[in-house]
Amino acid sequence: MGYKSDLQIAQENKMQVINQIADEIGVPEQYVENYGKYKAKIDYRYYNEELKNKKDAKLVLVTAINPTPAGEGKTTTTIGLADALKQMGKKSLVVLREPSLGPVFGLKGGAAGGGYAQVVPMEDINLHFTGDIHAIGAANNLLAAMLDNHIHQGNKLNIDLKRVTWRRAVDMNDRQLRNIVDGMGNKGDGVTRQDGFDITVASEMMAVFCLASDITDLKERAARIVVAYNRDGEPVTAGDLNAQGAIAALLKDALKPNLVQTLEKTPAFIHGGPFANIAHGCNSVIATKMGIKLADYVITEAGFGADLGAEKFIDIKCRTAGIKPNAVVIVATVKALKYNGGAPKTELDDINLEALERGIPNLLKHVENITQVYHLPAVVAINKFPTDTHEEITLIKNQCQEVGVKVVLSDVWAKGGAGGQELAEEVLRLVEEESELDFVYELDWPIKDKIEAIAKKIYGADGVDFTPKANKEIEGLKKSGFDKLPICMAKNQYSLTDNPAKLGRPKGFRITVREITPSIGAGFLVALTGDIMKMPGLPKVPAAEKIDVDENGMISGLF
Ligand code: ADP
Ligand code: MG
Repeated sequence: MGYKSDLQIAQENKMQVINQIADEIGVPEQYVENYGKYKAKIDYRYYNEELKNKKDAKLVLVTAINPTPAGEGKTTTTIGLADALKQMGKKSLVVLREPSLGPVFGLKGGAAGGGYAQVVPMEDINLHFTGDIHAIGAANNLLAAMLDNHIHQGNKLNIDLKRVTWRRAVDMNDRQLRNIVDGMGNKGDGVTRQDGFDITVASEMMAVFCLASDITDLKERAARIVVAYNRDGEPVTAGDLNAQGAIAALLKDALKPNLVQTLEKTPAFIHGGPFANIAHGCNSVIATKMGIKLADYVITEAGFGADLGAEKFIDIKCRTAGIKPNAVVIVATVKALKYNGGAPKTELDDINLEALERGIPNLLKHVENITQVYHLPAVVAINKFPTDTHEEITLIKNQCQEVGVKVVLSDVWAKGGAGGQELAEEVLRLVEEESELDFVYELDWPIKDKIEAIAKKIYGADGVDFTPKANKEIEGLKKSGFDKLPICMAKNQYSLTDNPAKLGRPKGFRITVREITPSIGAGFLVALTGDIMKMPGLPKVPAAEKIDVDENGMISGLF
């Protein structure tokens, strides 16, 4: 087709040494810890010692409509917008999640942007980077080892073997580990029980890591993690096992934000990577807080569509961290709108105005949520694909005009920052608007009211049904005093409903909550709807089959 691959574009780029980038945003040398020439960790002591009282940047959240399985270009738009602002002479900075190896080797590929809007070194960023996710996996598994050892050594805490909730973790799509039996063998080989692995980015340890404000807070959160219940039905925590100190020790370096750069040498923090279906889906609080002290405009992304990513970004992360976006970019693609309008996955490149028209209400719902529920200024960015037609773009523009939100074309994938000027100009205008952020629910509401508020206001549901199991769990959570936490909805990313096949803007539906599990360390309650995968599998032909490295260490086949 004549297009260069993401990897090819990234490899042809000449990077700046990372110390130069750190220097440009004013980080003193003593806080810069180099991981090779092009990656560095920035010491969190810098925040406490020098940054804390500095003025905050304008924070821009990039979110999207309900996506196609391929992703709609949020990361690409986030990076391109920051580059566009830089081209306009503004001090901008990107803050993103770290990619998980699961999607990289599976179906989706990398998560370092695309085309001419990428963060680099993209191979490193996509392939376990500075090792943070492994460290989080190790911390997770240390806790698992201490828990099973406690049981093996006599079980003083009286842990109910049938109610161990802590699972093991690895950063890989490996369905073989989803359900396992461990502790097999002889008397000295541990206690036999049913167990399983989650992908590290779906673990509570990842959420703890991302929501911690510093080492002390990390330790306190780790101590609060509920790992099991005892035979009286009371929660047993990591603190009961005295694991919090060692967990924090394993994470002390991981907790320092990773600094890299975009293709256009805009500074970028890439740090922490919780999934957006089962966890809260955005980068670490530490990286965001550091970022907003080091630039005038910080652009960040929340995973999946706005119903999941933006909702949790605002109701969980912003509330926890005491931050607030000044404007929101809602990314849409012509493809995804046609997909939402029922066009078959294989025909999304073909012009189809009927499907597009049926799909546009999905975009309008997300726009309304941002502007009328959260009361934040918003702009719609159409991430331009080579297959888009003029008629299709015009149709979207016309329909959005009616709800008073500007639609701009973003061509950052093809042109880098130069393709994001119109978007940047609108963002610069929006961030100056006064806005009063409203949360969807208050923390002291009953659990069911909080979940209903999300389902009704954000998804457009008529109401929520709770299974008997969920009802019982809600009673238990109240008894344990865990009912004042925010809710982390676990829902599929394709639909506003709990059924991934219902696309567009469904009406007249209810949500079923089957299960509510406490993530007390992270500081939220996970409400599970439908089947949410905490350990994905690889597809029939995994992306891993195409990835290679030559004798010079040059990677190929990443996308
Ligand atoms: P998201 O963050 O929404 O999941 P990404 O920004 O990671 O999406 O983009 C997903 C994939 O789509 C990437 O491989 C990227 O290169 C590709 N992509 C994004 N925008 C475009 C575009 N405008 N044209 C062609 N490919 C694109
Ligand atoms: Mg992304």
